[in-house]
Amino acid sequence: MRFAATILLAAATLLAVPADAWAASVVIDAGHGGSNPGAIGVNGLEEKEVNLDVAYALRDELDKMGYETLMTRSDDRDMSLEERVQFTVQHKADLFVSVHSNDYGDPNTRGTMVLYYDDHYPQAKYPASAAMKMLTPQSLDLAQKVLNAVTATANTKNNGLMQSAAYVIRSGEVPSILVETAFLSNKQDAELLAKPAVRQKIAEGIARGVAAFMPLAEKKSEDNNSPFADIAGHWAEASIRPLLDSGIMNGVSAARFAPDQPLTRAQLIALLDRLFPLAAPTAVQGASGQAAGQGTAGQGKAGQRVPSDLVSGHWAYPVLMKALAAGRIDGYADGTLRPDQPVTRGETAALFYRSLAANGNMKTNATATVAAFDDVPTTLWSAGAIYALRQLGLAEGVTTTSFGPSQMMTRAEIAVLIERYLQSNSPKSR
Ligand SMILES: [Zn+2]
Repeated sequence: MRFAATILLAAATLLAVPADAWAASVVIDAGHGGSNPGAIGVNGLEEKEVNLDVAYALRDELDKMGYETLMTRSDDRDMSLEERVQFTVQHKADLFVSVHSNDYGDPNTRGTMVLYYDDHYPQAKYPASAAMKMLTPQSLDLAQKVLNAVTATANTKNNGLMQSAAYVIRSGEVPSILVETAFLSNKQDAELLAKPAVRQKIAEGIARGVAAFMPLAEKKSEDNNSPFADIAGHWAEASIRPLLDSGIMNGVSAARFAPDQPLTRAQLIALLDRLFPLAAPTAVQGASGQAAGQGTAGQGKAGQRVPSDLVSGHWAYPVLMKALAAGRIDGYADGTLRPDQPVTRGETAALFYRSLAANGNMKTNATATVAAFDDVPTTLWSAGAIYALRQLGLAEGVTTTSFGPSQMMTRAEIAVLIERYLQSNSPKSR
């Protein structure tokens, strides 16, 4: 019973705070804690304590600047790496910053380092999430800005960036870094880390780096009615802006559109439902009349199973159940739906075309000749949809000869596809 109550409470919390209501949010992760002290300094300082103190100071700095902040731990407790990443995913945060202090065999090594996951240096044993692979440029940019700002503000030695497949920075869904503030194994650095004033300076530096990477939006003006600083100058800006104006697309948070972030299955289905609306299914009935909790399957319309990984508190639960009932999306053979998994370009084409065809509102252009994409053989499961969309002038390749069906679809790319569809489907007169 307690278990069920906890799940319901968690679901209610997610429902009560829609992503759009949030400002730009940063997860601050104080490394180690509880029975895991991390490094022990040459002066006896415990890493977990330094990390938590810097994390608190960083929270205060970011709060002052107007960011939303979330701490993975706010006291001295054990926390698994998985929990830290899950926390970030569940809160739909924009950035993840882990705070650590370093330890190295050579006592002369000192300075600040910033770690990030770089897909140019993958580690087979420690695979990164699909999202994190794609976020390499963003994580690198964030890491560089934070390193520059910390070393300038706290006057620590610049020990450079480091490509790393550490769990917390390779597993999430948002730009992520791990800041190694200074070396507890170095006498001078350990002395610095013992000083509250230095911890404060380090926190200020991290906050400045975050602000340089993710500036808060300017005040709204007549020319700029979008709160998203990250679409200005983006190659897809012209497609994204009208979709924001018409409410078809919105940001991943109040401050970020995240154009280069992968599109998730849930996001795609929600978009398709706005373009090709489905009627709401008849009331969802659970076996005992209550909504399904995590891991338990209830019954949707006419025996529609609720996928085992779709919690009723998921932001897209209603639209996903509707799309399942209408056959617009399929679950996986193992009973899951994987709503927050990125979709490939091939899968996007297939799902888009399925909705388009079901809508029966296609202006076909049967006279057009379609050149084949080198990487889309007719045997590919999504080939039919890809070529149909291309024939309609809606889909284009990543180059003139390749479609990239197994590449992740980005939010910018779906914006272009949708904008083309709306243009092709609107009366030609202006
Ligand atoms: Zn550490």
